Amino acid sequence: MRPSHLGEFQLIDRLKRFQGASPRVLKAIGDDAAVLALDKKRYQLFTTDMLIAGLHFSRGISLAAVGYKAMAVNVSDIAAMGGRPAFAVVSIGVPLKLPAAEIEKLYYGLKMCADAFGVGIVGGDTVRSDKLIINVALLGEVERDRLVLRSGANPGDRVFVTGPLGGSLKSGRHLWFVPRVKEARFLVEHFKPTAMIDASDGLAGDLGHILKESGAGAVIDEAKVPLNRGVTLAGALKDGEDFELVFTLPSLKAKKLIQYTKVNRSFRFFEIGEIVASPRKLFIRDVHGRKKEIEPKGFEHF
Ligand code: ADP
Ligand code: MG
Repeated sequence: MRPSHLGEFQLIDRLKRFQGASPRVLKAIGDDAAVLALDKKRYQLFTTDMLIAGLHFSRGISLAAVGYKAMAVNVSDIAAMGGRPAFAVVSIGVPLKLPAAEIEKLYYGLKMCADAFGVGIVGGDTVRSDKLIINVALLGEVERDRLVLRSGANPGDRVFVTGPLGGSLKSGRHLWFVPRVKEARFLVEHFKPTAMIDASDGLAGDLGHILKESGAGAVIDEAKVPLNRGVTLAGALKDGEDFELVFTLPSLKAKKLIQYTKVNRSFRFFEIGEIVASPRKLFIRDVHGRKKEIEPKGFEHF
């Protein structure tokens, strides 16, 4: 069967039977990063993401921006676990005709993001390739009691997002975005979200992952979803590449977070709906309270 007949996430599900199992592996496939025992107090987080020319970025995009993004998407996955990024290795597939100065530009971007988030680039691999390929693997750390998985959302929890969604690719926001490490750290230190993910595939798909892993459903209030300029709800649900955090909080903590944001405006948190009991069902509620079920699916590579 060709991968295209399976869908990206069905394919990944099939690969789960090859995953490592050891007492040190708390979570392998199925979250934003793998969670591994590090010491008594902390977990090691481990994630990787790959960008390919022509698919993830087009000609004419500065390689500094591509480098920045290649690091930032990984940093965003560490943030989604509640952690702090630490060390990265960077592997590149380089077309013969690409000048070395262009690769340096790529590294200038990688380093910009690495420096901004305290990441050390400590190695990698270089091969020849038809298309430019950049793969970053990133280690991070999180205190054991501050780890947030996709799987902890409970009925009654409120759903939040850290910023407006949609139109990221068209606007170019998908390149120079700021991974939400500060927001994530603030949340795990003071509010302990029950579930969290970074929005890379569109709200419907990303919230869908939380629903799948948590065995719950959600109702999203149409009027509450923050939208980027010129974007409709459909864009917020499907466009992807926003890299905002989507997270859930028990209702009492949700109230406290909303109170807090009224006093302190250093972060933005938008309450957009709630978790319900019906497994994997996603509903959009209009201003009249009418609910419409939608597929919990966003962008998929195939
Ligand atoms: P994200 O969008 O947060 O980077 P992905 O959708 O890329 O996450 O991946 C979801 C999960 O599947 C992660 O746990 C990731 O490590 C795992 N995964 C993705 N591709 C593979 C693969 N080829 N082999 C093993 N695990 C994979
Ligand atoms: Mg992610």
